[in-house]
Amino acid sequence: MWLTALQAAAGVYLAAAPTSGAWNWNLFEVEGRDYVSVDQVAEFYRLPQPARNGESVKLGTGDKSIELKVSRKEAEVNGVRFSLCFPVTEHQGKPMVSRKDLVKVFEPLMRPERIPYGKAFKTVVIDAGHGGSESGARSRYCPAEKEMTLAVAKRLRPLLEAAGFKVVMTRIRDEQMDLPERAAVAESYENSIFVSIHFNSGSSAARGVETYALAPAGSPSTASERLRMSDYQSFPGNVNDPNNVLLAAAVHRRMSQLWGESRFDRGVKRARFVVLYQNRRPAILIEGGFVSNPEDGRLISNPDFQLRMAEHIKMGIMDYQLLLNEGVQYEPGMMMVMKSEAEAVEVPLVETSSAMMIPRGGLPITTVAVGTNILDVTPFRPDDF
Ligand SMILES: [Zn+2]
Repeated sequence: MWLTALQAAAGVYLAAAPTSGAWNWNLFEVEGRDYVSVDQVAEFYRLPQPARNGESVKLGTGDKSIELKVSRKEAEVNGVRFSLCFPVTEHQGKPMVSRKDLVKVFEPLMRPERIPYGKAFKTVVIDAGHGGSESGARSRYCPAEKEMTLAVAKRLRPLLEAAGFKVVMTRIRDEQMDLPERAAVAESYENSIFVSIHFNSGSSAARGVETYALAPAGSPSTASERLRMSDYQSFPGNVNDPNNVLLAAAVHRRMSQLWGESRFDRGVKRARFVVLYQNRRPAILIEGGFVSNPEDGRLISNPDFQLRMAEHIKMGIMDYQLLLNEGVQYEPGMMMVMKSEAEAVEVPLVETSSAMMIPRGGLPITTVAVGTNILDVTPFRPDDF
């Protein structure tokens, strides 16, 4: 039944883009997981073929670029440091990235304008972490975490209002608030995003900034070494996987600029924090420096630095808005391909590499092409994967 529709879609596709033909991702199974070659990723996104130097692989330049290292999870995407879901691997002499990272990291960042949800967000929910009897991280170098999160939140509020956003604070004083209650605040505002502000704690040498987006279902948290059964669960927050990662990248880019040196850039990471996974709106959690380090403690307790931090968070939010609504300008041929992709039909997609990865109920997923290995690259719907 769907084959006829697919063939029709393929006809549209071929007519629109006679030089590129129907797109067919070649999937490779490595250690029970689907991978695609970096060469094909470059081809798909119209980037120059990858430049390889030892373990390093580079595609493109500037704000359309991917930098990878074989056997590592750390990557740079459009100049922003990332922790990937799975390590880059090498197979048949070619560097490969996991299908999960293609769909959950590269796709939303390379083509943010294709993300359908949340373009018209008007409200920013600012969540000052901790409060009341929960002081958060403490040290002798600065006030308690709960005081500094509120200080930054209060500086951020007028900046966002001046930029035309409605601002909602989960707390405006030193009070305790449950985590699910914080996440629920954003749900009351249809066109909202959620930004949780925290400060970090660790070894006294640890410094710098990191930004968290919810881990996609079927992917481990950055902090955990291996995939667990519980990692396969899909949460309400996973509905917004593309928005979450784009918002995290946009805000983290500005925060790492604030911190300046690359040694203070700890990258965009993945976790399953309550305020992220229970959130039905695009949500991130910022760890804006270490209370446990004397230099960081001095910086983050300084009102001038807190104001600059607020300014950089605001700039990141505005970058996110711009990326969602304008993205980058593609060459005319690419626009035609994208148009025909939008017309492609839906077919069920089943992960072949692991029984555990079959989508619940065999949910339909939009495909962009026809072939023996149909790979979804526009999985912007709930419960995919
Ligand atoms: Zn905290």
